[in-house]
Amino acid sequence: VITMGQAEHSKITTCAYCGVGCSFKAEMKGNEVVRMVPHKDGKANHGHSCVKGRFAWGYATHKDRMTKPMIRSKITDPWREVSWEEALGYAASEFRRIQAKHGKDSIGGITSSRCTNEETYLVQKLVRAAFGNNNVDTCARVCHSPTGYGLKQTLGEAAGTQTFDSVMKSDVIMIIGANPAAAHPVFASQMKRRLRQGAKLIVVDPRTTEMVKSPHVAADYHLKLRPGTNVALISAMAHVIVSEGLEDAAFVAERCDTKSYADWREFVLRPENSPEAMADITGVPAAELRGAARLFATNGNGAIYYGLGVTEHAQGSTMVIGIANLAMATGNVGREGVGVNPLRGQNNVQGSCDMGSFPHELPGYRHVSDTTVRTEFEDAWGVPLSPEPGLRIPNMFDAALDGSFLGLYCEGEDIVQSDPDTQHVIAAMMAMECIVVQDLFLNETAKYAHVFLPGSSFLEKDGTFTNAERRISRVRKVMPAKAGKSDWEVTVALSNALGYPMHYNHPSEIMDEIAALTPTFKGVSYAKLDEVGSLQWPCNDAAPEGTPIMHIGEFVRGKGKFINTQYFATDEKVTLNFPLILTTGRILSHYNVGAQTRRTENVAWHSEDRLEIHPHDAEDRNIKQDDWVGIESRAGQTVLRATVTENVQPGVVYTTFHHPESGANVITTDNSDWATNCPEYKVTAVQVMPVTQP
Ligand code: SF4
Repeated sequence: VITMGQAEHSKITTCAYCGVGCSFKAEMKGNEVVRMVPHKDGKANHGHSCVKGRFAWGYATHKDRMTKPMIRSKITDPWREVSWEEALGYAASEFRRIQAKHGKDSIGGITSSRCTNEETYLVQKLVRAAFGNNNVDTCARVCHSPTGYGLKQTLGEAAGTQTFDSVMKSDVIMIIGANPAAAHPVFASQMKRRLRQGAKLIVVDPRTTEMVKSPHVAADYHLKLRPGTNVALISAMAHVIVSEGLEDAAFVAERCDTKSYADWREFVLRPENSPEAMADITGVPAAELRGAARLFATNGNGAIYYGLGVTEHAQGSTMVIGIANLAMATGNVGREGVGVNPLRGQNNVQGSCDMGSFPHELPGYRHVSDTTVRTEFEDAWGVPLSPEPGLRIPNMFDAALDGSFLGLYCEGEDIVQSDPDTQHVIAAMMAMECIVVQDLFLNETAKYAHVFLPGSSFLEKDGTFTNAERRISRVRKVMPAKAGKSDWEVTVALSNALGYPMHYNHPSEIMDEIAALTPTFKGVSYAKLDEVGSLQWPCNDAAPEGTPIMHIGEFVRGKGKFINTQYFATDEKVTLNFPLILTTGRILSHYNVGAQTRRTENVAWHSEDRLEIHPHDAEDRNIKQDDWVGIESRAGQTVLRATVTENVQPGVVYTTFHHPESGANVITTDNSDWATNCPEYKVTAVQVMPVTQP
C-alpha cells in the first residue's frame, strides 16, 4: 500500500535504514507523510533510493506503536500505563536503589546505531555523568566494532577512507563479505555503473550473491571461500603480491612504517601463507587466489569494500587489519578511487561509534584513561569521570548472571532478538532487577523489562545521522512525537530524574556541545548543515568544508602500520553431529530484525526467513524444495523452510534473521572476535534434517 495524495509541505531528511544515508524529501499533508521522494541534491544518493527508504516508512504509524510509558515491578505482572513523570521517577529510583545496594558499577546503558548522534551522545553522557561509570555500549558491538579496532591500529582513524562517489574512479573493486545489492542498494547501483564502464570486480563471499552474477557486471573472480577463513585468504593474496614484486614500494617507503612493513613482508612470504597452502584451508583454488591478487595489485586504482562477512568472525579484527595491510602494500589509500571502505549496515553505525558509546572511549575515539581528555569532559559536564573502561554488552550479560550487574537502560536496541545465543541473553535479562526499554514497539527485550518508555521514529525528531562515508546529514522532525517526547528529551528527563541535570532546548544545542568537545566535529553545526546539506568529518579548522577522502599525504596516525595477521581456525568446528556451517545475511526488502519492515505493508509481503541449502546436501538428507527442516547447533535449534539452491556451496547453509519466530539467533553461538567481542554470527556448525511442518 503506497500512500498517495496531494502534498502540502515537505522537509528534507535522511533515510533511517542503511549506512548509505540517502537524502529524502518527506512530502506531508498535515501531519501525515504522503510520500518519500529521493532528494536529487543528496550527496550520498544523487536522487536515487531503494525500496526500503522510499516505501518502508509506514511502521511510524503502525498500530503496534507504543505511545504511553508503562511500569511493572515484576515481569510476570501486567504492564500499567503511567505518566512520564511516574515512569521516569520509578526508573531513577530503581537505578539508585540498585547502585546503593550493589555499587555504582551495577547498572549501565545500551544505545543503538538507529539513534541519532545527539541521542547516542546523551546516552553515553547519562551513563558516564549520571550513572558514574563507563558501562555504555552500542549495537555496533555486534557488527562493526572490529572495523574501529583494525582501522585505528593500522591507519589511525576508525572510519572508512572514501566518499561513495570515489568508486567512479576505481579500476578494480574488491567486495569482501558484503552483499551491497541487498544491504546497500543505492551504492550497489553506483558500483554497477562503474563496473559497466569496465572496472574489474573481485567478490569474496561463500555465497553467490547478486553482485557475483548480475547482468553485465559478472565478477572477474568469485573467491567462494569456506566461512571463517577470511584471514587465510587475505594472507595468501598478500603472499602473491609481495612474492611477485607487485607491491607499491614507493608508497610503502614514503607513507608507511617501514619496520612494520619489513616484519609483515617476512610474515606473508612464509610458505604457510602461500596460495597453495591456503587453498586447503579456504577451499579456493590457488590459481584463483593468485589471479585475484594480481588483478587487484596491477589494474590501477584498487578499492576494497567490506561488510559483516569480515567483522562478524572470531578473527574479525584481524581481517580488518589484513584488508588495511593489503591496501597500504599496493598504495591504494589516500586518493580517489581506492581505499578501505566498511559498508555500515545500519544508518548510524559510524555515528554511534563516533559519539563515545563504547565503554573504553569518549566521543572522538579517545580513551577514558586519557587524563587530559577526561578532564575536558569533567570540566564541561561538572562531574568526575571514571578512568576505567566499563562493560561491553556480552560482559553485561555475564555480570548479570553473576549478580553484579542488575540495572539496564536500553534505547532503540532489541538485544534479545539481535544478540547471539538467545537463551544466554534471556537468562541475563531475567537475572536483572530493573530493565528500562525505550523503543517504538514492545519488542522481544521488552518482555523482560520493568519500565517501558515509548520511543520516537525518525520522522518525529530532529538530529543527525552519519553514514558509512562519514557524512553527517540532518534528520528533520516532520510530525509531532507520538508519545509527546522525542527520544533525546526522554534521556534528558531520565537524567534529571536521577539528579544529574541536563538542559537543551533543541538537538542543535547537543550538536554544539559535541562540536566543542570533539576535535573531528569542531566545525559542525546545524546552521552549517542547513547551508551545505551535509558534511564529512573531520570537519574543523584544518578542514572547514569537511574531508571527503582521508589519509591524503599522511595517515592520521602518521605512518601507516602493518600488523601481521596470523590465521587461526575458529573454535566453532564442524563434526559428525554438526557437519554444515550456517552463515547469515539479509534480503533487499527487509532490514535486520525486521521491527520496521515487518510493520510496513509496502514491503512486508516478502516475509519469510528460509534456509538455503546446496542440492547435494539436500539430497543427502532427503530434503526437497520448500520442505520444513530442523536446524540444530550446539546452542539451540529452530525450524525453517528450505530453499535448495546452488547459491550456497556444499557444506554451507544460509539464512536471514528478519523474523523473531525463525530464531536465527537461537542457534548462533557466543563465540566472538578476540579484540572486540563482536559475535561470530557468520560461522555456526549445524545439522539440518527434514521435519514435519511445525
Ligand atoms: Fe535507505 Fe539505504 Fe535504501 Fe538509501 S540504500 S534508501 S539509505 S535503505
